[in-house]
Amino acid sequence: MSWISRIARADIVALQAYEHAAWEPGLERLHANESPWPSLAAETGAGLNRYPEPQPRVLLERLAQLYGVTPGRILVGRGSDEAIDVLTRGFCRAGQDAVIICPPTFGMYAIAARIQGARVLSAPLRGVDFALDAEAVLDRWTPEVKLVFLCSPNNPTGNLLSEAPVLQLARALTEKALVVVDEAYLEFSCGISLARHLEQLPNLAILRTLSKAHALAGARCGALLAHPEVIALLRKVIPPYAIAQSSLEAVINALDPIHSAESAARIERIRAERERMFEGLRELRGIEHVWASQANFLLARFEDPGSALSRARGARLLIRDVGGYPGLNRCLRITIGTREQDTRLLESLQ
Ligand SMILES: *Cc1c(COP(=O)(O)O)cnc(C)c1O
Repeated sequence: MSWISRIARADIVALQAYEHAAWEPGLERLHANESPWPSLAAETGAGLNRYPEPQPRVLLERLAQLYGVTPGRILVGRGSDEAIDVLTRGFCRAGQDAVIICPPTFGMYAIAARIQGARVLSAPLRGVDFALDAEAVLDRWTPEVKLVFLCSPNNPTGNLLSEAPVLQLARALTEKALVVVDEAYLEFSCGISLARHLEQLPNLAILRTLSKAHALAGARCGALLAHPEVIALLRKVIPPYAIAQSSLEAVINALDPIHSAESAARIERIRAERERMFEGLRELRGIEHVWASQANFLLARFEDPGSALSRARGARLLIRDVGGYPGLNRCLRITIGTREQDTRLLESLQ
């Protein structure tokens, strides 16, 4: 038995996968109880009357190219949120198993764990720079811990985690737990994806999303990159028709190489705006600290966050109160927008 089958939920390992209707585009479909006619509105190229292809091949191949892995190492879902959910359900037994998170960090890891009935253990990020404390994670580890969630660049603090402690952690937890690195904001950073270590570190898993840098949050499309056996296991957990036909077609069009130059230029624009906003916010009275960011948002500590929130709202802008996260008292998270929006925000806070 492989280590993956050993740490995964035994009932999922034993589960007979749902047999979805065969995908044979060359033949006519009288095997899936679909309507023979296209819907009366909202059409797509393939027709919304048909079920979409499960784990669509064209999408897996396109994402494989984009992320530098083979298609067999990809699970595609409705955003990386679904990948987080499916990981938790595939690996954690309710009432017994646990995950480790490193707060302050993205809230979905703990939510997915709690929904599944898994415990959530914390190994907080360390110091003013929110560095990963690999020793603290290892101290918290017990055989019940199946997943360690890391986020780099981290939301809501914006910093990249140093590679060395992440890799050290993955090595130390070999055959014991999956180390899941969420790279939702990697495109905005100066870092490179840890996906290049997937072959050497079979317990490493990476989350990527099209929601942020690729401007496709509404299409709901994200990916898990992991060992092929992890992917095969989680294909039994994810619903067979996770990706809607309309999303599939939108994503394939958006990822066409003809758009890649404009896509890259937009990311550059966000990065330049981020640096302008970093300086602009630092000059404002009433702001105690602005953290350098590798993402498309900035974290800042305000003397009076309530007043800042209402001034922004007065300028018809929403920014996020993250003061409830451990260590982020009086902090707000500000997404980088257009130049005009960012300027309006700065003026409202003046
Ligand atoms: C936005 C975000 C996601 C969610 O991405 P979806 O693909 O839209 O579900 C995942 N992780 C982090 C850290 C995020 O900030």
